[in-house]
Amino acid sequence: MMTKHVPPEWAFEFHGHRCPFMPIGYRMGKLALDYWGLRPEPDHGFFIFPEIGEGHPQACMMDGLQASTGATYGKLLMAKTFYGKLAATFYHPKVGAVRYALKPDFIDAMGKFEFFVYRKKGIEPSQIPEAVRDEIIQWVYDQPDDFLFKVEEKPDFKFTPVKGSFNKAKCSLCQEYVFERYVRIKDGQPVCIPCSGYDSKS
Ligand SMILES: [Zn+2]
Ligand SMILES: [Zn+2]
Repeated sequence: MMTKHVPPEWAFEFHGHRCPFMPIGYRMGKLALDYWGLRPEPDHGFFIFPEIGEGHPQACMMDGLQASTGATYGKLLMAKTFYGKLAATFYHPKVGAVRYALKPDFIDAMGKFEFFVYRKKGIEPSQIPEAVRDEIIQWVYDQPDDFLFKVEEKPDFKFTPVKGSFNKAKCSLCQEYVFERYVRIKDGQPVCIPCSGYDSKS
């Protein structure tokens, strides 16, 4: 199967530079929607759990995932697992979960492009010559889906979204509103986390 799923120009503008990883994430998200016959998520039904961690440069994929699926960080539809892997699980309660992972052979083939000579020197994507970036982006577009992605259903995958609530209280110290699950009690009074002196995890 060959589905280029080239990102629209606005996705590159949103992302900020032209690189190969945003388009890979865009395509991965499109394919995951297609897998279940879903449309981009208008509200709060479709979740993505990218396995990308910190300190490796492929995190650009996550902007592509958001652009193609509507499952955005801002809508709380995306949460990283920090496994440090180039994969993501896509979940909709009505259909189930499917995991897409970049294949090692694809990553190895991609790593041979001049783009990474620049990246390994610490040069940011926007500073890399346009022709060098276009070369690798076009190559990615031209590869078949099954060269890029390993796909597996995850029948045992479980996730319970946090229940939404509009309930809030005023912090007795700073007088700002704080939503109920974050209210702490200090000297018998409701306070926000910064005023409580507690760590946000406690
Ligand atoms: Zn990027
Ligand atoms: Zn406060």
